[in-house]
Amino acid sequence: MRCAFERRIGAGQALALLMCASAAADGVTRLTTEGGLTVICRPVEGARHVAVVTLFKIGDHDDPAGRSGMAHLLEHLWVMAPTDTAASRVAEVIDGIREGTYKAVTHDRCTVCATVIPRDRVEEELRGLAGRMGTLRIEERDVARERRSVAGEQEERFWWFSSGTAGALARERVLPPPHGGCSGGAREHLEKMTAAELRDRWHMYYKPRNTVLVLVGRVDAKDTERVVTSLFAGLPAGEPVPPQGKQEIGGPFRMETLHCSEGRPNAKPYACYCWVAPDPGSDDFAPFLVLAARLKDAANVSEVANVQYVPLVSSTIGLVAPSEGEDGFGTLDALLNGLAAPVNDNDVDLVRLHFGFILGLTIPGDWMLSEPGNLRQELGENLCGLALSLAHRERLAFSSEKVAKALEAVSNRDLERARALLAPGRAAKVLLLPDSSESPK
Ligand SMILES: [Zn+2]
Repeated sequence: MRCAFERRIGAGQALALLMCASAAADGVTRLTTEGGLTVICRPVEGARHVAVVTLFKIGDHDDPAGRSGMAHLLEHLWVMAPTDTAASRVAEVIDGIREGTYKAVTHDRCTVCATVIPRDRVEEELRGLAGRMGTLRIEERDVARERRSVAGEQEERFWWFSSGTAGALARERVLPPPHGGCSGGAREHLEKMTAAELRDRWHMYYKPRNTVLVLVGRVDAKDTERVVTSLFAGLPAGEPVPPQGKQEIGGPFRMETLHCSEGRPNAKPYACYCWVAPDPGSDDFAPFLVLAARLKDAANVSEVANVQYVPLVSSTIGLVAPSEGEDGFGTLDALLNGLAAPVNDNDVDLVRLHFGFILGLTIPGDWMLSEPGNLRQELGENLCGLALSLAHRERLAFSSEKVAKALEAVSNRDLERARALLAPGRAAKVLLLPDSSESPK
């Protein structure tokens, strides 16, 4: 997961769709429009707002060769550029997602934009979404502005001294973009991108067949169906995103010592391990979740390490700790050694505690969801979090029931197999030191 940028924008515009509808026991209604747009509705009793999440099934790792950062730049333009009926939006960066603001993130394989609005603005929001999907105007002026914004975020991501930077640098080593460059955009690639090629890419892929739209909160499934059907009918379906193929995982990795500009006085180095996480559809996923939850728990208790992993969202797992000396991996190795314990009665509870909402293992009661909250996607315990969880589960065709069963059945042998995935020898290892005039990238 990466750069998140948020903008306050004026009364926007927005979206719509549907065709076959089905309601499940958890109150979720799912519709697919003629053009292939998937719409998910989850009414929440007592909610005053509606969280609207749009997910495109294309991300950083789908960027073409020589064009890393294309998905990221399009994410910015998606939020900011004008359409045939709406002016360019004016940016104001703010913290947290609040009414009328947008938060957008480009992941490896998808791009997500979330907002929270009052019920009476839902139709307008959907109209705006349909408008952007249909007639987003990508002009050089907007590209130049957003390119600067993206370049600034990339600088922060890879150059400012922080645990996040240590994680991002290790991540680039263990799972780099398959077509080269840098996740989120290499400077030389960003500089070359033209409005014309961005426009082509947008109008080919950022279309209904590659989109999941989720509404959670004070929303009526029937109304949404009506609005979406009228607004999204007639939009071209778009081309399927080219298949991803099996990504080569590198390694073995040597430990790398990198330098970063110092963010605060007396900063200590950061030690970081980063591994590729198993696919949520694989047999390794349930035992891996047990280990990830144990790590998260141990790291929270000791407060010395940070586990960088959100199931269904992250394709890697990072483990970062401040380091006293230049060999800071002792703390991390101790945490990893703690994973050797056999299966115990607390394991499934730990997974539910740390990852239950995002995985759909814990169904939040409506009373928990009535506030819009911020983008706490780890928890899924507010409108936005649940909308994100539903969007990612849909994207991956993820079955919460299947994983719940698999978790109950995890054996010691399964845990051993998953532990092998988290061996230090399979990790990218980065020791990040403050204070240097040289960029680590
Ligand atoms: Zn960004």
